[in-house]
Amino acid sequence: MKESTAIAREPVRTLLPVPDRCVLCGDSRLSLRFPARGEMVPLDAGAWRCTSFGHRHHPPIYGCDDCGLLFQWPMPPDEALEEAYSGVVDPLYMAERDNRILTFRSVVRSLGPAGGRRLLDVGAYCGYFLEVARERGFRAEGLELSRWASALARSQGFTVHTEPLEVRANSADRYHVLTMWDVIEHLPDPREELAAARMLLVPGGRLHLSTIDTGSLVARLLGARWPWLMDMHLVYFDRPTLSALLEEAGFRVLDVGTYSHTVSAGYLLRKLGASFPALAPVARALTRVVPTHWPVPVNLGDNMLVSAERI
Ligand SMILES: [Zn+2]
Repeated sequence: MKESTAIAREPVRTLLPVPDRCVLCGDSRLSLRFPARGEMVPLDAGAWRCTSFGHRHHPPIYGCDDCGLLFQWPMPPDEALEEAYSGVVDPLYMAERDNRILTFRSVVRSLGPAGGRRLLDVGAYCGYFLEVARERGFRAEGLELSRWASALARSQGFTVHTEPLEVRANSADRYHVLTMWDVIEHLPDPREELAAARMLLVPGGRLHLSTIDTGSLVARLLGARWPWLMDMHLVYFDRPTLSALLEEAGFRVLDVGTYSHTVSAGYLLRKLGASFPALAPVARALTRVVPTHWPVPVNLGDNMLVSAERI
């Protein structure tokens, strides 16, 4: 991303303001769960791409004693976030296309038969889930802020809306299915986004989403070393918190399970090295002997898959 759009967060973070209430439920009983970590990184598109290796960097993360939500504070301003996501360019994601397709072919089964239903994939990125949804029989279109990624998805013949979800909700379009794969943790106001998601669905329509799970065994065991504590993750749910928010937003939770990703062995080893520096030499050595293109399904139970019905 060009220099002028990078917004340095150094001055904001050194002030270390303390939140006075939970961003979700408004309760004021908060505690600092994870202090700020790592060197300062500018809020720019490089750090905010999907395949970012910017682990071990984050502002302070607070937890709400009432609703259980974890959230980073201070939050980046909305305009800066939109600008950063609009400018994302992520060629590494394209190199992982085959594995993303395998991941989505597995997850699309949780949506049930397509039956010609109209589907909106929120955070559609390069359109790989759209390809899988179309091949399964959905009338699929996307919503994606990145100009680079949305252009790629459009080149595959898809309608892709380059606008925030609440803007889309004000259109006349309505959908039978909304999908949000690894999106909600990036949103500063998930309540508002779920309200927009509800507006976009017909009564009885389905919302399917995945997000990291702070209540999982892996997250609890690793604590501050859990690799998903990172700059671009603004809010962190567990199963009860997300279910409660969905119910409050006008959804009925139908199913909560875990989400599996398929990645190449090379990508997994790079991710391991970036997340756990102590393992980096081993990961590097393995890269030389393991066929790096091998697809590896990964499910540590710390990514949840949730299906809900619009009431
Ligand atoms: Zn709360």
